[in-house]
Amino acid sequence: MAIIVQKFGGTSVADLDRIRSVAWRVKAEIDKNNQVAVVVSAMAGTTNQLVEWARDIGPLHDAREYDTIVASGEQITVGLLAIALQNIGIDARSWLGWQLPFRTNDVHSSARIEDIDVSMLKSRLAENQVAVVAGFQGITDTNRITTLGRGGSDTSAVALAAALDAERCDIYTDVDGVYTTDPRVVPKARKLDTITFEEMLEMASAGAKVLETRSVAMAMSHHVKLQVRSSFVEEDGTLVIEEDDDMEKQKISGIAYSRDEAKVTLVGLPDRPGIAATVFGALADSHINVDMIVQSASPDDSRTDITFSVAALDADKAVQVLEQQKSDLAFDRVIADTNIAKISVIGTAMRSQPGIARTMFSVLAEKGINLHVISTSEIKISTLIDADYTELAVRSLHDAYGLETS
Ligand code: ASP
Ligand code: MG
Repeated sequence: MAIIVQKFGGTSVADLDRIRSVAWRVKAEIDKNNQVAVVVSAMAGTTNQLVEWARDIGPLHDAREYDTIVASGEQITVGLLAIALQNIGIDARSWLGWQLPFRTNDVHSSARIEDIDVSMLKSRLAENQVAVVAGFQGITDTNRITTLGRGGSDTSAVALAAALDAERCDIYTDVDGVYTTDPRVVPKARKLDTITFEEMLEMASAGAKVLETRSVAMAMSHHVKLQVRSSFVEEDGTLVIEEDDDMEKQKISGIAYSRDEAKVTLVGLPDRPGIAATVFGALADSHINVDMIVQSASPDDSRTDITFSVAALDADKAVQVLEQQKSDLAFDRVIADTNIAKISVIGTAMRSQPGIARTMFSVLAEKGINLHVISTSEIKISTLIDADYTELAVRSLHDAYGLETS
């Protein structure tokens, strides 16, 4: 018998009716003669409420207690789903993170899974009992409850699928798959039947919110077959596959955008060896993740500008960190701009098809959109533009690459 891991997100367990219909989805897999482990999130909105309470009671709260609070949302949904399953004649029980356990490190509120003990769970599955597992949570060596970071239950599901050597991990969500771009921006966007892990990873980190980035990276390294599908409709979703299984792709796969970025520019830095190391070293020491970087050539070899992007939430902190280094770095000014968006064109087709970058740049130029920063990987081209042009850029690119037709 194959083991299937099903994961249901917050909107799929948002109320009791939704939970009852999730039970039927689980039954459908059982009826196909599979063993099923289900990972669930908290009801939509619950975790936000819990985070708010934790912040309100003490802005500088003890991170261990924060985790105790925010992990509780999943405790409710596992219990409810186990009962909903029993109600339709299916043997099921709930498992909290500590009961398996999901061992994590002790970085509270963004813990990493180190090991999952699936021995007990496996023997229950073998007795045809459905395991309803709380996503998002784990336990440290010292028996403190941890959470994996917001959106972390995707990672719980993939990690469990890897540990169980599952046949597939189905991520049920409120969209019916991965689209060529956000259908709210481009109604003609098309659902992809397949996408490669690498493309999915780039899409997720470029701003497509359908899967948590960390879960995709984990699925890729553990070869977990992932499927994204809707809990609201019956249709097949999008299968995330290895590149070898993909036919020679002619087209790019998708266009992602993110408005959650900020651009930081250091003006008038002395152009000498070690300057970039000092700048990015200081940012790294403050745990600020930098995404794109450009350094302009200095006209007279004496002064240069460096522009980079960070998460919008980190913009003020980045400026502060750099201001503190001013005596050392001797720059003129540091400017942060949060009114920008990152637009990314993604596809393994880039490896073999010339001209993809040219199309991107000429389309944006035709629309009069200025590019502040450009960066590329083997299968992605990203650029920062003024946020006001986000929709226009995404729509024009979607058209230019002919993505509405397969
Ligand atoms: N309930 C958690 C959150 O809202 C985990 C998840 O849904 O993935 O972040
Ligand atoms: Mg999610």
